[in-house]
Amino acid sequence: MTEIMTMTEERDVNGMEKAKEAICMAETAKAEETDHMTEETNVEPKTDMTEEEGALINEMRLCFLSRGENESLARIAVAGFIACLDPTLDVLDDIRTAVSEAVTNAIIHGYQGTTDGIVYLSAFLYEDGVNSRLLRVDVEDTGTGIEDVKKAMEPLYSTSLDGERAGMGFAFMAAFTDRLEVESKPRLGTCVSMWKRLILPEASHDTE
Ligand code: ATP
Ligand code: MG
Repeated sequence: MTEIMTMTEERDVNGMEKAKEAICMAETAKAEETDHMTEETNVEPKTDMTEEEGALINEMRLCFLSRGENESLARIAVAGFIACLDPTLDVLDDIRTAVSEAVTNAIIHGYQGTTDGIVYLSAFLYEDGVNSRLLRVDVEDTGTGIEDVKKAMEPLYSTSLDGERAGMGFAFMAAFTDRLEVESKPRLGTCVSMWKRLILPEASHDTE
């Protein structure tokens, strides 16, 4: 809980709105008891985003040990990967938060705090029409895996016993990205994929 409070306090009003949206979204999903979230789980996209991705423009792969300090490495790496697109601070904040939640989960839950696990971070940039690009970020671990992904994605659900966790990581990932998918197999690991549409700055429209 402490960590989430700190994170939301640092965010701007827009971030707070999205955090509230995350809670609403997740609670609605819970109330409806949708049955489309099984082992492979899709949170419905908030945009008209389809499963189709355009041509691949760029790709980054990074792997690092499951050490807490590497959470900031992951955030910075993804921010650097999209820096050439000159994203707004809001968009950058959204992506950094989503990456941070996914990597923290891999370290804390996937590898249960051991520091010799390997977290795999991949980022892909796709064509997405004239005015935008599509970012996909995958965060993967080969740790404990998740028994029940649907349950794990419920708001306020956490297996953490120390009371330090709010159970809102997946809800934030869903709220701060345009599409979220989670694949997990117990004892084999977890892969979290997140998509975010990036609107190109005005100037670059003319040069297309
Ligand atoms: P918070 O993110 O608010 O600190 P949390 O991590 O418990 O709390 P979520 O991020 O929403 O909440 O994750 C919900 C639950 O899903 C976790 O408590 C954990 O049981 C499970 N989980 C999430 N990611 C993984 C992972 N990579 N490997 C194994 N279990 C995971
Ligand atoms: Mg979490």
